Amino acid sequence: MKLPHNVSQADFKAALREFANIVGDQWVYTSDEDLELYRDSYSILWGEADERTASAAVAPDNANQVVELVKIASRYRIPIYPIATGKNLGYGGSAPAIAGAVVLDLKRMNRIVEIDERHGYVVVEPGVSYFDLYNHIQEKGLKLWIDVPSPGWGSVMGNALDGGVGVTLAPYRNHFEAHCGVEVVLPNGRMMRSGMGAMPGAKTWQQFKPGFGPHVDGLFKQSNYGVVTKMGFWLMPAPENFVTGTVKVPKYRDLIALVDIIGKLEQSKIVQGLWNLSSPTTGTPPFAAHDAGAPPEPVDPAIEAILNDPAGVDMDRLDVTAQSKGLAFWACDFNFYGPEKLIKVQWECVCDAMRAIPGATFKLGAIRSLPLSPEDQAKTRDLGPFGIPTLKTFDLGPMFSYEGEDVVGHIFFSPVIPRTGEAAIEAMNLFAAIGRKYKLPGPPLQFPSTIFERAFLFAVGLPVTRSPAVNAKLRDIIRELVAVSAERGWGEYRTAPAFYDLIMGTYSYNDHALREFLETIKDAVDPNGIMSPGRYGIRSHHVR
Ligand SMILES: Cc1cc2nc3c(=O)[nH]c(=O)nc-3n(C[C@H](O)[C@H](O)[C@H](O)COP(=O)(O)OP(=O)(O)OC[C@H]3O[C@@H](n4cnc5c(N)ncnc54)[C@H](O)[C@@H]3O)c2cc1C
Repeated sequence: MKLPHNVSQADFKAALREFANIVGDQWVYTSDEDLELYRDSYSILWGEADERTASAAVAPDNANQVVELVKIASRYRIPIYPIATGKNLGYGGSAPAIAGAVVLDLKRMNRIVEIDERHGYVVVEPGVSYFDLYNHIQEKGLKLWIDVPSPGWGSVMGNALDGGVGVTLAPYRNHFEAHCGVEVVLPNGRMMRSGMGAMPGAKTWQQFKPGFGPHVDGLFKQSNYGVVTKMGFWLMPAPENFVTGTVKVPKYRDLIALVDIIGKLEQSKIVQGLWNLSSPTTGTPPFAAHDAGAPPEPVDPAIEAILNDPAGVDMDRLDVTAQSKGLAFWACDFNFYGPEKLIKVQWECVCDAMRAIPGATFKLGAIRSLPLSPEDQAKTRDLGPFGIPTLKTFDLGPMFSYEGEDVVGHIFFSPVIPRTGEAAIEAMNLFAAIGRKYKLPGPPLQFPSTIFERAFLFAVGLPVTRSPAVNAKLRDIIRELVAVSAERGWGEYRTAPAFYDLIMGTYSYNDHALREFLETIKDAVDPNGIMSPGRYGIRSHHVR
């Protein structure tokens, strides 16, 4: 039997018995076969001594059971690690942050507690997946949309608590920002509600985020201060129409003006839908292309030679060659939602602003009335912008190999960089050079993502294998990527447990004042250090 650190076998067995008294024997898992399911199948530490494997798992049915389980864990000083649906692939899967913790599997708690069409919100338990919520809304015929990450099987709450993102309108696609109010079981077993929810009989828990006094909700994002048992989310009223407009600009360095202009349009809330950057030089249809059957555009042989140059893509040569072939360097797709007259005016505003870039061209796609019919859905390559959950992201392409080893998954390196064309160019060059140095698989050009409103995100998926030697090399590559980013003042927004300490270590202003503050809170709310120890690099005093 695998034991949590510093817990005797007798104590562990006694605690498991007490867990079973609360939830029933069938919801306490200790067999190797069951615990295999709580391994992170994308772990970059797979099979190594440092792999974060669970000692047991326990699955409560409701918040009162969570209270009792937390009290037992605290009494026996057993580390527990709550997961919602546990699909955090690329950022840790369903495995705990430290080896030997007991996974508190909350997926049985899958009730939609309340959904309010008039005020546009929902209150969910942890086990509610995007599919569950979407289906519930369809069955009830509510005129509400959800915002989904690429894999639809994850938890609305779990994704938000890990800082996850989607692709519709800006106020909704940053999932933690779109939440309003939490109910949380603290490490001493006390249940707390934040914001207006702290008032018994509150009528505005999901309508007024700040509440009274300090706004504490942020303490529960990417942290280890409690088990969240309910969470409210603002939902988008179902829009009437959708359209994508494409702006193309001719030159490589037009990116600088392009990003500045879009920044102003976003800050003025004229552009609120996601915009996607692609390059017609690469021939790949832009991420936002909605026609399922659209074949990739062929790439000109002269351009292909530049893209596949082993010494790296020479952007200046690519720029000149693209122009000589009459190809624009950049294409930018803007998604608009709402009444037809509004989206047409928004598009006009985009075109007016973009005319400042010589040679810019404009094309507005067909306005699609919503909801999409089943036939329309079948024809649509990416349903994410329509708030429809799918698992299509997993058929992105065949798995490849790296260093002669099969690639079994990937791990994200996700730095946030300034929202400027200059920074985007610097990051593209820097990360491409490192990719080339280590012969990492991937497209010749990778562009930043525009998911966050005021900064770029650069989400790079690095391969993960089952070979400890290759994985060790990949960990070194990630350390290098983190270091070169930190030198430039770029920090990661999210990471897998193997890199929590490394990345928290880069947020070191004034001798790690932030981490010291977070750990002071940790010691106060979790003196026995039982709640997700080590998550995001936050530890209580006795394991620091
Ligand atoms: C191909 C691919 C594409 C992806 N695309 C996206 C994307 O578009 N957007 C995106 O955001 N992610 C993406 N991901 C990452 C990940 O798969 C999703 O974010 C997924 O939704 C997270 O898993 P989950 O929802 O099951 O959360 P969980 O795994 O349940 O939770 C995540 C973490 O939050 C904490 N937590 C969860 N519930 C609680 C609770 N009740 N109380 C306290 N702490 C809790 C735990 O520490 C847990 O490990 C992608 C992954 C892959 C492999």
